[in-house]
Amino acid sequence: QFPFGRRLPCDIYWHGVSFHDNNIFSGQVNKFPGMMETVRKITLSRAMRTMRDLFPLEYNFYPRSWILPEELSLFVDEVRLMKDSDPSWKPTFIVKPDGGCQGDGIYLIKDPNDTRLTGSTQSRPAVVQEYICKPLLVDKLKFDIRLYVLLKSLEPLEIYIAKDGLSRFCTEPYQEPSLKNLHQVFMHLTNYSLNIHSGNFIHSDSVNTGSKRTFSSILCRLSSKGADVKKLWSDIISLVIKTIIALTPELKVYYQSDIPAGKPGPTCFQILGFDILLTKNLKPMLLEVNANPSMRIEHEQELSPGVFENVPSPVDEEVKVAVIRDTLRLVDPQKKKRKDSLVTVPPKHPWPGVHEHPALQEVSPWQGVDEMSSEVPPKPTPSVILCCRCQSLKQAPEAREELPDAPKSPEAALPSLCLKQVFPKYAKQFSHLRLVDKVAALFIRFLGVKGTTKLGPTGFRTFIRNCKLSNSNFSMAAVDILYIDITRRWNSMGIDKESGMCLQAFVEAFFRLAQKKYKTLPLHEQVSSLIELCEKRLAAVHGKRLLCGCG
Ligand code: ADP
Repeated sequence: QFPFGRRLPCDIYWHGVSFHDNNIFSGQVNKFPGMMETVRKITLSRAMRTMRDLFPLEYNFYPRSWILPEELSLFVDEVRLMKDSDPSWKPTFIVKPDGGCQGDGIYLIKDPNDTRLTGSTQSRPAVVQEYICKPLLVDKLKFDIRLYVLLKSLEPLEIYIAKDGLSRFCTEPYQEPSLKNLHQVFMHLTNYSLNIHSGNFIHSDSVNTGSKRTFSSILCRLSSKGADVKKLWSDIISLVIKTIIALTPELKVYYQSDIPAGKPGPTCFQILGFDILLTKNLKPMLLEVNANPSMRIEHEQELSPGVFENVPSPVDEEVKVAVIRDTLRLVDPQKKKRKDSLVTVPPKHPWPGVHEHPALQEVSPWQGVDEMSSEVPPKPTPSVILCCRCQSLKQAPEAREELPDAPKSPEAALPSLCLKQVFPKYAKQFSHLRLVDKVAALFIRFLGVKGTTKLGPTGFRTFIRNCKLSNSNFSMAAVDILYIDITRRWNSMGIDKESGMCLQAFVEAFFRLAQKKYKTLPLHEQVSSLIELCEKRLAAVHGKRLLCGCG
């Protein structure tokens, strides 16, 4: 705890819920400003839709979603159209209140005209989403995956993924949704907080049985049945990177507002919880992103009737301790200094003795990654080995030797990292997706007053003027109308009360301008062409100013 009145700064500040302290001027904080808002169900759905509009095939890992109440009629109309074009389609939808968690207020519906949609969502906005009816089942049960992801830096983007996660199981055998079983939460919702109250919940000391297991134990099982686990991991890594690419524009706007460039402030990092569902065909689908994933390593157990006690949970401990430990290792400010004074040599054989044990089966999530990237050499050493016979998880020895007289690193005593860098490692394959990031950079450039997240009418006009986007067909009066039109609609959605144009509204305006200017191209090409044009014209304006200054 940071006691009130303490003067000495810290290297690392660990905030409980969100970034909330503007009086930190150095060090690192474990939360990004605005992360809670950015991953809320509605905001996430919007960000994913923007990306899907640009890149439909690359962003099909997020279920089709609509925002209620504002898109109720759009939802009804679109579903009707889809049903008309495919009469065999018998969808189910899941309604999730915005800002809800732990399954709170969630229900399933079959009919888009269900009266609950008009009633409840007026007072509590929600997301209605296509329900994934055919999930992968293990032991006849639906389960989801909680993966831990470290967003180590926003600029430049640095992402790490934990090699193991948790699989959280339902406690009633799964059946495809029907009017008879829609209300059965223990069959359809995988939330631990709900299923713990089912009489069927199994606490287990083993990582591969019970209602909560390690993800690696599921992979081991899938792999023994011949599933392509490499491809699955590669798809999961893509999902994580693409999702973070969708979130970064908004996060950058919050960041510059709370921690303006050029002023003393901390840097941020954050552990995120990704909830992923696997379909029957092993396609990972994103359910949601948690800004505050639970890091509890105990669970409550009824020791005798009415007597509860917190007892250690080996599965949670296995996964979560490694995530926290490695996060601290990666952000450790002393690490760089120590690294510089260490000499490392590659081991002769990465896994001495591994192949001598016939029961040991390598489950390296990172094998698939090598396939994703042509320019990255294959990772030589898998670091998690699952022993299928004795069913225990073994940590690999640190794959390096220190020279006898090299200074001893405190890290040498630690197990190898469970967090693996995926970005910038695979940046090249995803760089074409970072269009909205560039639109956000333009937005931030014209925000003007530091500390704000909304663009005023003058800022918008300056943007249009400096980029020379107005002409005889698009007068400055039309620019003002566009600004008022879009801004009023976004502000009426009640997202927040600060006046002005928010980033999403600017993105919408930008897309409209791009469509107007480059009529025949696909949307992503229209947008990238306009970005290029704006950047060129702004560079010219900047160049002129420099010249004038010199003159
Ligand atoms: P919460 O934040 O309340 O936990 P989630 O979005 O994680 O909300 O949904 C709760 C649970 O509902 C998930 O863990 C999953 O089991 C189920 N679920 C959510 N969305 C879908 C979906 N589109 N298809 C199938 N199941 C879903």
